[in-house]
Amino acid sequence: MITTRLPSLPEVSFTKARIKLTIWYLFIVMSVSLLFSLAIFTGINSELDHFQSMSVVRREVDFFGTRIQRTPAFAPETITRSRQKLVATLFLINLGILFTAGVSGFILAGKTLKPIETMVEEQKRFVADASHELRTPLTAMKTEIEVALLDKKMTLPQAKNLLKSNLEETNRLESLSNYLLSLSRYQSGQSQFIREKFSLTELLNEVVEKLNPQITTKKIIVSMEKKEVEAYGDRSSLRELFTILIDNAVKYSFAGGEVIVKASNKNNHTIVSIADHGMGINAADLPHIFDRFYRAETSRNKTKIEGYGLGLSIAKSIVELHKGKIDVKSAPNAGSVFTVTI
Ligand code: ADP
Repeated sequence: MITTRLPSLPEVSFTKARIKLTIWYLFIVMSVSLLFSLAIFTGINSELDHFQSMSVVRREVDFFGTRIQRTPAFAPETITRSRQKLVATLFLINLGILFTAGVSGFILAGKTLKPIETMVEEQKRFVADASHELRTPLTAMKTEIEVALLDKKMTLPQAKNLLKSNLEETNRLESLSNYLLSLSRYQSGQSQFIREKFSLTELLNEVVEKLNPQITTKKIIVSMEKKEVEAYGDRSSLRELFTILIDNAVKYSFAGGEVIVKASNKNNHTIVSIADHGMGINAADLPHIFDRFYRAETSRNKTKIEGYGLGLSIAKSIVELHKGKIDVKSAPNAGSVFTVTI
C-alpha cells in the first residue's frame, strides 16, 4: 500500500499577517515621505547654490585708480553648514515618521485583522462542534451494526430493533443537517427573502398544527388569542422562527403545562410573545442561549431533552435579517417569555 501525505495547508498566522501588513503600511508611508524629502532637499539645495554664487561688489579707489573687488555674499562654510543641517533635519523627520508609522501601522493592522481573526476562530469552533455532533450518532450506529454482525444467533425481532434504533439515529442526523443548512443559509445571507404582508394569526395556527404531535404527547395547552394580526416579512423564514420558539416552549414545559402565544401590531411593528411555565433558564446561561451549539446545563444533563443548541441561533439570524429584535425573560422553574419585535 502506498501512502501519500497531503501537503498541509499553511497555518493562518495572524501575527505574520499583521507584520506583513505593517511592512506594507511602512513602505507606502516612507515612499511618500522620502519623495517629499527629496523634493524639499532639491528645492532648498538649488537656493543654497544660488546663494553660494552671489557675491558682493566693492569699488576701491587708490593711487592707481578705481578697482572693482568681488567677494562672496555668504561664507562658503555657512552654506555647507546649512546644507548639512538640512540633511540632518530631513533625516530626523524621516526617522520620526518611520517610528510613528511603524507603531501606528502595527496597531492599525491589528485592528484591521481582528474581525477576520474572530471570524476564522468562530468558523473553526463551528466546524469542530458540528463534526462532534455528527460523529455521535454515526458512532452509535456503527457500534450497533458491528455488534449485530458478530452475533450469529440474531433473531428477526432483534434485527428489527437494531434497524429501528439506526433509523432514530438517521432521523437525528437528518434533523442536524437541516439545522446546519438553515443556519448557514441565514448567516451567509444567501437565503432568498420575499417580503410580503400576510396574516400572522394564520401562520401561528399553522405552526401549532404542525407541532400537534409534541403538544398532545406532553398534554400541553397552547392558548392563542383569536384577533387578526398582520405581519410584514418573509413568510417562510418567520414560520421557521415561530416553529423554533413554540417547539422550545413545548419541549421545555412540564407535562400538562401551558404555552401562551400573543401577537399584536403596534406603531408599524409586529410583536409576538411566546410564554411557558416550564423549567426556565438560569441567569448564567441566559447570555449564551443564542450562541451556536449552546445548551443550558439543565437541558443537556439533568433533563436529557434532545436538541443541538442551534434553534435559537437560527431564530436570532432570522430576526436580524428582518432588522428586528428578540428578547428573553426567564427564571429557573418559573418559565420563559421570548418576545420578537419585527
Ligand atoms: P436546543 O433546544 O436544541 O437545545 P436552542 O438553540 O433552541 O437549542 O436553545 C438553546 C438552549 O436554550 C436550550 O438548550 C435550552 O437550555 C434553552 N432554552 C431555549 N428555549 C427555552 C425555553 N422555552 N425554556 C427553557 N429553556 C430554553
